[in-house]
Order: sequence, then structure tokens, then C-alpha cells
Amino acid sequence: MWTYQHQHFLVHQLPVLNDNYIYIIQDRHSPVVCVVDPALASPVIEVCAQLNIKPTHILNTHHHWDHTDGNKELVQTYQSKVVANLADASRIPHISQAIAADSQFQIGSLNIRSMDVPGHTLGHIAFVIDDALFCGDTLFGGGCGRLFEGSFAQMWQSLQKLALLDDNTKVYCAHEYTLPNLRFARDVDAGNKKLKQRIKDDTQTRMKQQPTIPSSIGLEKATNPFLRPLNAAFIQAYNLENKINLNAPEVFTHLRERKNTW
Ligand code: ZN
Ligand code: FE
Repeated sequence: MWTYQHQHFLVHQLPVLNDNYIYIIQDRHSPVVCVVDPALASPVIEVCAQLNIKPTHILNTHHHWDHTDGNKELVQTYQSKVVANLADASRIPHISQAIAADSQFQIGSLNIRSMDVPGHTLGHIAFVIDDALFCGDTLFGGGCGRLFEGSFAQMWQSLQKLALLDDNTKVYCAHEYTLPNLRFARDVDAGNKKLKQRIKDDTQTRMKQQPTIPSSIGLEKATNPFLRPLNAAFIQAYNLENKINLNAPEVFTHLRERKNTW
């Protein structure tokens, strides 16, 4: 487990299954503890016992089993409230606090903003607390989620919304996919110096068996191929390189399709 300090809360990061991360957000000013996307209950129960805390809430970004399978046992054990997208209520096990996809609410001293970010699934939402973004399977280190339900246009719009967050915002995504993602990034954005540096840094990090996550919005904007279409110079270079003439959303689609068969 790794712990990150924010001004008003701590974030405990638990690696589970092959490559999932569960996040436990501990309010510094109240007994509130929010578990983001519990794929499993047992590692959460174990860590909470060690820390002597109780999950008062569960925040689900979307309905997939590797983000919600722990809901049942956590609700049974702690009577945690399950906070998730009202529009996806029928698919979120044990949902008890349905919120609008784009909304603002408070739990304990935490001011939480939810953002509607469809694409990976139609009901996918992200949570922003101060300078921390919990984006599930929408934005990854060096990548973005697969389009299981949404359209390319929806995902591109969702990613653009996340890119508007402050550059210093920490990106707490739900999977450790960064290195394979960056290998694809290198293929499609070969001239990017910041990307080269990131590959070096993150390769070292993984050799030490540490997480590459959280990254930051600034780093993702500079190195993530699925955010690079925001940059006019990148679009120009990509078109030239591939002998095509596409605009930003089309370049995003081109990249996402290319990665599916990469
Ligand atoms: Zn998913
Ligand atoms: Fe997932």
C-alpha cells in the first residue's frame, strides 16, 4: 500500500488483482472514509483494520465488476453508503446515494465534484476532490479506456473535460497500464521529448515495483497520445507522418482504433 498526502485528506492506494488499484480516501477532519472502486472487499477490510478506520462510503466510477465486486461485503460489514451515478443505478450493486452525473456534494469535510465522462461505459463518472481526480477507466497513465459502450466522440469529449482540470491535479486511475500504454505512445509520437523522459522514469519506477500512478493532468497532456490531439503541432506532425489530413477528434479516433489492433 502507498499513501499520498493531500491538504484535507489522505489517499491510500491498494494494488489488487492483476493491475487494479483501489483507493481509500481518508478525511483528515472527520471520520469519513471513501473507498473508490472496490474490486474486492477483503484487502480493504484488512487495511482499514490496520489503520483503525471504517469505510463510511463507497464511490463507484462505473458498473464493471472489477470496480464494484467489493460493494456487497463492504456494505454488509460497515453499512457503507454506495455513491454512484443515478443514470446507472440499475447496474451499481447496493447503490444507496444516487447522484447526478455532473454534480457537487459534500461528504464529511470533502467537497466532491462528479463529472459525466461517458465512453468506456455510458454511465461512467469521475470524482474530483480538490487536486485529486479519480477517473476509473476513462483516463489512464499514457492511455484511455476502451470504448465498450460509448462513441469515439463521447470519449473525446470526456477526455477534453478532464484535460481542463489544473495541470497539478493528481490522476488516480483504476489500472496500472502505464508502461504498455507508453510503448504505444512512443510509436505514434516519436518526437516527444517529455514522453521519452516519462518512459525512462516510469520504467525505473516499475522495476522498483512501485506504482506509476498517480500521474498528473499536466504530464498526461504532454505525453498521453489520447490527449495529444489537443495540441495543434501534434496534429500537424501526426497528419504529415501518416499522410492523412484529420482534425482533432478524427485524430483521436484514428489513434484509438489503431491501439485496438496494436
Ligand atoms: Zn471498466
Ligand atoms: Fe476496470
